[in-house]
Amino acid sequence: MGLTDIKERLAKAEAEAGRAPGSVNLIAVSKVQPNERVAAVLDQGQRLFGENKVQEAAGKWPDFRETYPDAQVHLIGPLQSNKTRQAMELFQAIHALDRPKLASAIARIAQEIGSCPDLFIQVNTGEEEQKAGILPAETDAFVAECRALDLPVVGLMCIPPVDETPSLHFALLAKMAARNGLDGLSMGMSSDFEEAISFGSTHVRVGSAIFGERDYG
Ligand SMILES: *Cc1c(COP(=O)(O)O)cnc(C)c1O
Repeated sequence: MGLTDIKERLAKAEAEAGRAPGSVNLIAVSKVQPNERVAAVLDQGQRLFGENKVQEAAGKWPDFRETYPDAQVHLIGPLQSNKTRQAMELFQAIHALDRPKLASAIARIAQEIGSCPDLFIQVNTGEEEQKAGILPAETDAFVAECRALDLPVVGLMCIPPVDETPSLHFALLAKMAARNGLDGLSMGMSSDFEEAISFGSTHVRVGSAIFGERDYG
């Protein structure tokens, strides 16, 4: 538990997978965590964070950035179309590009403001009803559609079904990214980030193992 421990485990997993040191980005998922815990992790030197809600992130990151101007925040949760502009101004990357309508909204606003966060396409690798994401069979076409819109797609993202072995999903996502010429793989959380690294993850999203359990009460 804690940032130091997770960084050690990450470095070990990189080495065991024959990956270059520093090739895996650690996203500290700060959603729902009290500000004191987030500030403590900032003080330890962590600069890359993940949030899953635009509103919540907008409520704390502009303030944190006054003290830590180089802090980066990635949106890792679903994005409603009406919050697209706000998200594009707040986050350095969006990990949940999951539908054509959102792709065109992002493209339109990018034209207007002249910039765009890095984008990961979320793939619903488990083909779960309740989960967002592009279906595996439609992913290649969607990547092409995003590229035709000039969107800066850097990789794919997945959240494996809770009741399945994550490795099958990590392997599938890696295969789809490779055949589309995408280098980024956003996969792996507290319970499985080492395994995700062995399958080529470039961005692990680790929350509770760094900050402790989230208290939704
Ligand atoms: C909350 C969240 C995480 C972090 O989960 P932990 O199990 O706390 O590491 C990772 N990815 C996404 C998309 C999340 O919403």
